[in-house]
Amino acid sequence: MNAIVTADYSVPESGQLQEVAPGVLWLRMPLPFELDHINLYLLDDLDGWVVVDCGLGNADTRAVWEKVIARFLQGRPIKKVILTHAHVDHIGAAGWLCHYTGAPLWITAGEQVTAEEYAQLSGVNADTFSVQANSFLHRLGMDEQQTAGIMGIFTGISSLVHPLPGSIYELKEGMSVEIGNVQWQVIVSEGHSEAHACLYSEALGVLISGDQVLPRISSNVSVRAAKPDANPMLAWIQSLEGLKTLPADTLVLPAHERPFYGLHARLAELIEEHMETLIRVEALCSEPLTVMQLVGLIYQRKLTLFDQLLAGGECLANLHYLLAQKRLQCCYDVNDVLVFSQPD
Ligand SMILES: [Zn+2]
Repeated sequence: MNAIVTADYSVPESGQLQEVAPGVLWLRMPLPFELDHINLYLLDDLDGWVVVDCGLGNADTRAVWEKVIARFLQGRPIKKVILTHAHVDHIGAAGWLCHYTGAPLWITAGEQVTAEEYAQLSGVNADTFSVQANSFLHRLGMDEQQTAGIMGIFTGISSLVHPLPGSIYELKEGMSVEIGNVQWQVIVSEGHSEAHACLYSEALGVLISGDQVLPRISSNVSVRAAKPDANPMLAWIQSLEGLKTLPADTLVLPAHERPFYGLHARLAELIEEHMETLIRVEALCSEPLTVMQLVGLIYQRKLTLFDQLLAGGECLANLHYLLAQKRLQCCYDVNDVLVFSQPD
């Protein structure tokens, strides 16, 4: 299959369910962002349901869940909540939903670490987090005003995540989860987040791809303050390559936008886009640049503070990839800001 083809399902209204494969229901949740929705999936488990991803921890999401549980689940309980990863639009309502339904939570160990960072933001380690995040943003070349604004964004994000249950089950690479007599294989990817889980059913020919493969936009791949030396772009590209082993005619159920066919075409497109960006970043560093100077040259438009954070993190991910390949070098300037340039 050489092109991406949107699957022929109508987009469900908020709080409605659309079957997209036998026993696989598509549910949309609203998001108050530029990307205004997230796709969640409900899997028929015979005497109950398994939920994949949960939406934000806010009143709008909780209201939709209450409606769906009361009207559409035929009185059968939610037996399990699975998270692809710990980003706020996926995990936010999870703690509440588990408490509301009594369902256990399943997540990879890597994502559980990220999830615990939300609690740190408002807990006893908030000052330590703040110092680390401030110095990280400073090293990217952000000024005090940008840094203060972004710290406010971190606090806002953590307020959209309900506390997780005390007891959590671990999703692991390669494990099989049986749901309604269907085996779902867990495929763990890195780059967009620490240990993102996709679910693949060979019998159904379906991949629940989370944010790992989206039909139009490319997921953010950022170096984060918690792991300032990481090379997530390498992990991301390797993870995309790994998914090429799945059949070309797989139906992809993404966390944003619409289900589609053309997995191999989309993987190739995503990898090619990143390779082109890497070549461009390498060329721009013919002059020594800070991360935020590079952001200015690449995006060439006014970015919101949140977009500056995403763009700065992703530019640093590109720079670390090139650094590891010795295509760039890096030093600190007199203000302790990172400067990247082509090798001498
Ligand atoms: Zn995500």
